[in-house]
Amino acid sequence: MAEKNFSMKRRERKEREAAEMNKDVKELKKEEEKGADGAEASGDGDGAAEQNGDFQVEPMELPPFEIIAGDRINPFTFKFQFKNVEYSSGRNKTFLCYLVDDGNASDGLQRGYLEDEHAGVHAEEAFFTQCMSHYDPALKYTVTWYVSSSPCAACAAKIAEVLTARKNFRLSIFAARLFEWEEAEIQDGLKALHAAGCKLRVMKPLDFSYTWDTFVENEDEALNLWEDCKENYEYYHEKLADILQ
Ligand SMILES: [Zn+2]
Repeated sequence: MAEKNFSMKRRERKEREAAEMNKDVKELKKEEEKGADGAEASGDGDGAAEQNGDFQVEPMELPPFEIIAGDRINPFTFKFQFKNVEYSSGRNKTFLCYLVDDGNASDGLQRGYLEDEHAGVHAEEAFFTQCMSHYDPALKYTVTWYVSSSPCAACAAKIAEVLTARKNFRLSIFAARLFEWEEAEIQDGLKALHAAGCKLRVMKPLDFSYTWDTFVENEDEALNLWEDCKENYEYYHEKLADILQ
């Protein structure tokens, strides 16, 4: 009986999430349009040559969008991409916030975020090529990721490989949502990560607030956690525990 009530409650929540999705996507699009205007206005320094009139440069075709690296995430994007809903369509990117401590006090903590489009290289792989390019086997790395969703099977395998090869590299991954956790190959990937020594966790309400404070253009405002944040955390936490046990 209790079980039945629980699943009904979950269904209601899913329906509500679906309704909120439309609203979220509309608002996000508006914000992204605003952001794109801003980026155009700032230019990149080639403007002077184009305006000079002596020669006309054909507008260059931009390479396909792959990875964005940055310092702080737009607050709207964060609230949309990190929301720990079950109904996650429209959220077809991975956002990866990272902290790297290489044990060298003078270096300080390296922090930032990566964003992928799930079309080319995934953010997890980009982390190793873009943020670990000065990797030094003599140092001890303590790395923490806060990701909008847990890794796909291919990324999980790659990360597990790195962790097995680099004993000086400790990784903790906090995920807002579990990506396609019902799939057997995804579960195998998470198990392989766990076996390779990766600390895998689902983000708690407090982790969302921490990530907001650390990686978002928050204008010194605290994060208002969404309804069901705690219940959704508990749901995913239980699923992850079942997979890893
Ligand atoms: Zn991936």
